[in-house]
Amino acid sequence: MTFVCNSFPTDIHGWAELLPERQICEPLNGAHRVPWVVVGAGLTGLACARRLGGLHPDQEILLLDARRVGQGASGRNSGFVVATSQFPGGVVPSQIENYRRVNRINQAGLDLLSVQVSENAIDCQWRREGFYHTAADHSAIKEYEHFLHYLDILEVDHKPLDRTALHKRLGTNLYQVGIHIADGALVQPAALVRGLADTLPPNVSLYEQSPALKIEYGNPLTLHLATADVKTDKLILAMNYESATLGFLRPYITGSTLAGSFTRILDKRELASLGTLTEWGAISLHSGGATLRLTRDNRLSIRNTAEYHGSTLLSDSEMASRQAIHRAAFDKRFPQLEHVPFEYSWSGVEGISRNGTNFFGRQRENIYLAGGYNGSGVSRGTAFGTAIADYASGEPSQTVSDCLTSAPGAWMPPRPFLDIAAFFMVRSRFSGVGLDR
Ligand SMILES: Cc1cc2nc3c(=O)[nH]c(=O)nc-3n(C[C@H](O)[C@H](O)[C@H](O)COP(=O)(O)OP(=O)(O)OC[C@H]3O[C@@H](n4cnc5c(N)ncnc54)[C@H](O)[C@@H]3O)c2cc1C
Repeated sequence: MTFVCNSFPTDIHGWAELLPERQICEPLNGAHRVPWVVVGAGLTGLACARRLGGLHPDQEILLLDARRVGQGASGRNSGFVVATSQFPGGVVPSQIENYRRVNRINQAGLDLLSVQVSENAIDCQWRREGFYHTAADHSAIKEYEHFLHYLDILEVDHKPLDRTALHKRLGTNLYQVGIHIADGALVQPAALVRGLADTLPPNVSLYEQSPALKIEYGNPLTLHLATADVKTDKLILAMNYESATLGFLRPYITGSTLAGSFTRILDKRELASLGTLTEWGAISLHSGGATLRLTRDNRLSIRNTAEYHGSTLLSDSEMASRQAIHRAAFDKRFPQLEHVPFEYSWSGVEGISRNGTNFFGRQRENIYLAGGYNGSGVSRGTAFGTAIADYASGEPSQTVSDCLTSAPGAWMPPRPFLDIAAFFMVRSRFSGVGLDR
């Protein structure tokens, strides 16, 4: 079922489906004057608003989202909270400082989330015991060698595993080799963002289903919504691939649509046919490979499609055809569970740039932006969101410096050329994927 809020479509599939109904915040109405507005209540915007709330306890911060909290990528992702990023290809010596910089940002976001989940007792299946990186076919096995070398150079705590060890833990024979990275967390993403939204500081006011439609430049800035106008001194944009709706990043970011499926809850016998671990996550070492999880509520999930789809979600009929791809990949890994149906499938749109960079900084006077993490935004988005609040408040930090060092975005052509270029860009991630899909 598709629910349309102006030009910000959403649907009800996925992780949010597994949670109880939530009371949504009212849309914003009327005329307002506040020192701070944050647009976008995904992980970036939530982290930003939380930090601003702490930095300026006597000032009001307005946080707006076009949809309901959790309906963007932040509530639809696969729930891997990454500490150590994998960079495909061999280690490039001149890039080692860049790898360290990115991992410092990831680590900062992971640590922030860890504290926020624990201090606010957010019930989101948080599990900080690391996860697996797996390889079944030739290209991924090559990446395995590269990744081991990289982890050794960066002195990251990890453990290489062979096929037998992986089978024993995960219950699938598909993978030839894998690596367990000790740090990193798994989470129920929709429960995380809802929990974060429900525990914001008292001086942060959240309004859902409140798309910002236009900015009128001046001092103060004026933000126009359908039924409200807000005058503000500082505006922070945390809108991911939709920044262009307010006129920012248009030639640098677009959306790639990913889709995955969950089984129903497995019974005791089905669980016993898997490995010894009761909860785990596995990311493919090939960029087009499947992401798998056994969740705390005993469902297996698989995500293995990514495509350029005009930065939109999939319709029900498109989802049915992607589900067939999930099914084939699932049966290949777990032939003993071929009879277990999928209960839900879902899609989500991640922000991607041509050169895989992230965006951070001042866009114009009193307007700041953070976003676009190319599929790795749970920890990184949290760090970027926190850092953009610091930066806009004039607070220096190591994370601010690290985020400011992000490479500039590579230009992308306007539509219809963008559609063709983005189609091939996303498709190229599947080259040589083989059995890892
Ligand atoms: C299927 C899938 C799996 C993924 N798996 C992982 C994973 O396992 N680990 C990982 O690290 N990353 C993963 N990602 C990427 C990660 O989810 C994103 O990088 C991250 O959530 C981005 O957070 P964000 O807050 O910047 O953007 P979003 O979550 O997209 O939030 C942006 C918000 O801005 C709002 N908005 C947009 N325009 C306006 C407007 N004009 N007015 C008001 N509000 C507006 C939107 O409604 C949205 O809620 C995955 C992504 C997808 C789609």
